[in-house]
Amino acid sequence: MATQKLLLLPGDGIGPEVMTEVEKLVSWMNKTAMASFETERDLVGGSAYDAHKVAITDATMDLAQAADAVIFGAVGGPKWDSVPYEARPEAGLLRLRKDLELFANLRPAICYPALADASSLKRELVEGLDIVIVRELTGGVYFGEPKEIVTLENGERRGVDTQVYTTHEIERIGRVAFEMARKRGNKVTSSDKRNVMRSGVLWHSVMNELHKREYPDVTLEHQLADALGMQLVRYPKQFDVIVTDNLFGDMLSDVAAMLTGSLGMLPSAALGAENPKTGKRKAMYEPVHGSAPDIAGKGLANPIAMFGSFAMTLRYSFGMTDSADKLERAISNVLDSGLRTKDIAAAGQNSVSTTEMGAAVLKELQRIAG
Ligand code: NAD
Repeated sequence: MATQKLLLLPGDGIGPEVMTEVEKLVSWMNKTAMASFETERDLVGGSAYDAHKVAITDATMDLAQAADAVIFGAVGGPKWDSVPYEARPEAGLLRLRKDLELFANLRPAICYPALADASSLKRELVEGLDIVIVRELTGGVYFGEPKEIVTLENGERRGVDTQVYTTHEIERIGRVAFEMARKRGNKVTSSDKRNVMRSGVLWHSVMNELHKREYPDVTLEHQLADALGMQLVRYPKQFDVIVTDNLFGDMLSDVAAMLTGSLGMLPSAALGAENPKTGKRKAMYEPVHGSAPDIAGKGLANPIAMFGSFAMTLRYSFGMTDSADKLERAISNVLDSGLRTKDIAAAGQNSVSTTEMGAAVLKELQRIAG
C-alpha cells in the first residue's frame, strides 16, 4: 500500500482539540493496515504568528505543496485582533488556498434524521437533506483588481472591489459540479446575478455551453442568487448540486449550513486541478466552523465536522470510498444512539465532551469495520 502524506494544520482555538480526535483515527487506520498515512503537524494562523510573526511560513507552505492532502482545523481569535493585516490568522488560510490553487470549495449540507429538530426549519423540510454547494474559491470579487480604498479630490473616500471571471475559471468549476452531480442526483443548479452583473451574463452562458458540450446527460437549472437564497429556506430538498461564484457561494453555503442545525457538524473540501500525469489533485479539508474562542479549551467542541472533513479526504484525495462511507455511517449511528455534544443537545439533555464523542465515533467505526 502506497504511503500517503498528510499535513495536519490544527491552527487556533478548538482547532487542535478536534484535530487530536482525527489523529487518533489516523493512528488506528495505520495500525489496522486500512491505510498507510504519514503525518506531519505544523502551525498556521495565530499560533504561527506567535512563533514566527507570519500566519504561515514558507517552510510550512513547502510541506503543504508536498503533501497528498492538507487537513486544516481553524484559525483566529480575539488574541490576534490587532496584529498587522497581512499577518492576521486568516491570511494563512488564504495563502494556502491561493498558492495551492484550490479553486473548488465543496460544502455538503447533510441533515441527519437524528438532528432534524436542531434545524431552524421544520423537520419535514430538512430531514434527509443532502445537498452540495460547489463554490468557486480563487476568483471573483475577493481577488479581482483593482481592490482599494482611494481618496477622491473632494476628500471623500471610495472603496473598490472588482468582480471578474474568465471562461476558463467558470468552466473548471462547472466541470467539478457536473462530475459531482453524475455521482449523486444528476442535477446541477447554477446561480449568478445575470440580471444586474456582466460577469453573471458570462457565467450563465458558459455554464450552458459547457452543459451542452460535455454534460447533456445531467439536468441543468439556473436560479438568480437572491432567489436561490429564498428557495434554500423554503424548499431545500429541491437541490442536488449548486454551483456558484465566490461571493454568492460564501453566503449561500452559510445559509445551507444552518439548515443542518449546527456549525459543529459541517465538513468542507477545497480542491485544485487534477495533475494530468499523476491524476492527483492538491486538496485541503477543513470544518466550516471557526476557532470558537468562546468554548476553546473546555472540551466542548463537537469533532463531527472535523471527522466529516476527514471522510471527504478519504473519498476525494484517496478514492477510499468504502472507508469514507463507513466513517460517515459511524457518525450517523452515534447520533442515532442519542450521544450529543453540547452544541447539538436539546435543552436539558446530557452532553458529552470532545474526546468522548471522538472515542464513540472511533469505537463505532471499529465495530462496523469488523
Ligand atoms: P465560530 O465558527 O468559531 O463560532 C460560532 C459559534 O459556533 C460559537 O458559538 C461557537 O462556540 C460555535 N461552534 C463553532 N464550532 C463549533 C464546534 N465544533 N462545536 C461546538 N460549537 C461550535 O465563528 P466566530 O465565532 O464567528 O469566529 C471565531 C473566530 O474564528 C474568529 O477569529 C473568526 O475569524 C475565525 N473563523 C475562522 C474560520 C476558519 O478558520 N476557517 C472560519 C470562520 C471563523
